[in-house]
Amino acid sequence: MTENQMPWASKASLKQYCRQEAETAALATAFAASLELFLNLNPSAHLNISLEGDLGAGKTTFARYLIQSLGHDGKVKSPTYTLCESYPIHQSNPKTNVVSFTVHHFDLYRMRDPLEWQEAGFAELFDVPGFCIIEWPDKAEGTLPAFDIQIQLVAGTDEDDRSITIHACSEQGKVVLEDIRANL
Ligand code: ADP
Ligand code: MG
Repeated sequence: MTENQMPWASKASLKQYCRQEAETAALATAFAASLELFLNLNPSAHLNISLEGDLGAGKTTFARYLIQSLGHDGKVKSPTYTLCESYPIHQSNPKTNVVSFTVHHFDLYRMRDPLEWQEAGFAELFDVPGFCIIEWPDKAEGTLPAFDIQIQLVAGTDEDDRSITIHACSEQGKVVLEDIRANL
């Protein structure tokens, strides 16, 4: 990838053109490595991450590569009907022994009333170490905790062409973003 394919939109955001799915996978893998490092250094931290974009933009695809890169060894199902799928991750790390955390992957597209959010007890999932990754966060507007990172996916002119922008919205988010930037 050449330098002019990765214009940084601003210091708190990083925009990358992914011309095929493999490039989206590479970005998700780099993102996973930075998230993993952050959680190794801050074992009780929790980060909220949104995935925004039209149907077919690649939100679930990005989440799938991210969750598998974090260490989940099986399938990543789209949470379209269940609203949330959870993945407990246990990583062996030579310095810190085993690091355990949970990734909760939400798709709120089918949620009609933000009250469903509260009734399902999803709020509790935001207090545990790990990450919440949320597709269609606007369906629960006003109910969701603030995001640390917002990711926007936009389809391009070619079928496999996407532009992906990662925005840091908190101090935690900025630390992760700086690490991704340093490693890309
Ligand atoms: P969403 O969750 O945003 O509705 P999905 O991830 O379910 O979208 O679907 C995206 C589709 O686009 C998948 O079939 C995926 O294989 C395809 N695709 C093609 N190119 C890319 C790319 N560069 N990045 C992500 N997905 C891509
Ligand atoms: Mg999806």
